[in-house]
Amino acid sequence: MHIAVLAGDGIGQEIMVEALRVLEALDLPDLRLDHADVGGVAYRNHGHPLPPETLELAKSADAILFGAVGDPELDGLRRELRVESAVLGLRKELQLFANLRPAKAFAGLENLSALKPEIAGAIDLLILRELTGDVYFGEKGQRETATGRRQGYDIMAYDEDEVARIAHVAFKAAQGRRKKLCSVDKANVLQTSVLWRAVVEEVAAGYPDVELSHMYVDNAAMQMVRNPGQFDVMLTGNLFGDILSDQASMCVGSIGLLASASLGEGTRGLYEPIHGSAPDIAGQGIANPCAMILSAAMMLRHSFGMDAAAERVEAAVAAVLAQDVLGHDLGGDASTTQIGDAVVAQLTDD
Ligand code: NAD
Repeated sequence: MHIAVLAGDGIGQEIMVEALRVLEALDLPDLRLDHADVGGVAYRNHGHPLPPETLELAKSADAILFGAVGDPELDGLRRELRVESAVLGLRKELQLFANLRPAKAFAGLENLSALKPEIAGAIDLLILRELTGDVYFGEKGQRETATGRRQGYDIMAYDEDEVARIAHVAFKAAQGRRKKLCSVDKANVLQTSVLWRAVVEEVAAGYPDVELSHMYVDNAAMQMVRNPGQFDVMLTGNLFGDILSDQASMCVGSIGLLASASLGEGTRGLYEPIHGSAPDIAGQGIANPCAMILSAAMMLRHSFGMDAAAERVEAAVAAVLAQDVLGHDLGGDASTTQIGDAVVAQLTDD
């Protein structure tokens, strides 16, 4: 189990400590952790947010545990040196095209959701977002129109292979859950979505046990706050998934609770909380480490096939939250270390 540990910036460093303590508490065989700089700290130490040695380590490891990147003092750097580009670079270099973001209500925290508690309590969904295509990676630029006006443009495009490979991941994920898949697009307006929908239908033929539905993204955004309990797996492209997954996090309660996995064709994956480096609270010891710890649980499941160990960690986090050990993001006063202590204690008790 060779893990590249890239803690990154701000609270990334603080929450990673707790995730590694949790992994240690599991007493895993053959655990090898190799640390490297990424993001702002890498720029300061090596002149680049994703130095070659960090990329090499990521490529040679079985899994990458990633904290967060982001450093306001370095915001003025030119685009290719911006510290956030380290995440995009890793996704692209490792061909991590499938982003899994589970969002599930935690018992006892329903009243902390932005939704009514009875609506929030029913959330148990998985967003599957395509990560290496769409309008983010199409031709883009600024130009002048025939009438001399400035114009910005970004080309949205998906080819059928890109859609098919993420659709297969989504159908397989649905097979392991409640067997419902909702594909989200904008096929009433976008040709990209017309093809997306046709390819998803073709792939569906191989998964007759999964119930497939389609929804326009505007309706999906509305349905996620009206009745999120209706969703099991939501499959969508890069742009729509970016927006819907942040929306889902606030439906659960806090950005400090949600984990994510970015996967490619093999078992290697990159695991990170959905939040950033939170410079406003960095260094204060008050960041919630739950999303990072739950990201480590996703790593155990998806890269190492250790479902039982992953479930133990998830149950320990849920138990700690149910005991009201809450960080400041959830209205409590537990420190990062105290939350980590509680999760480790829960694991050693069971
Ligand atoms: P953010 O997610 O870092 O923080 C948003 C708000 O949520 C802040 O008030 C923060 O204090 C709070 N918060 C986030 N995580 C928390 C936690 N675990 N516990 C308690 N509170 C938490 O988003 P931002 O402020 O927009 O961005 C800060 C930096 O992070 C920027 O440089 C941004 O580009 C970067 N960023 C990086 C990633 C990544 O590394 N994948 C993702 C998003 C943002």
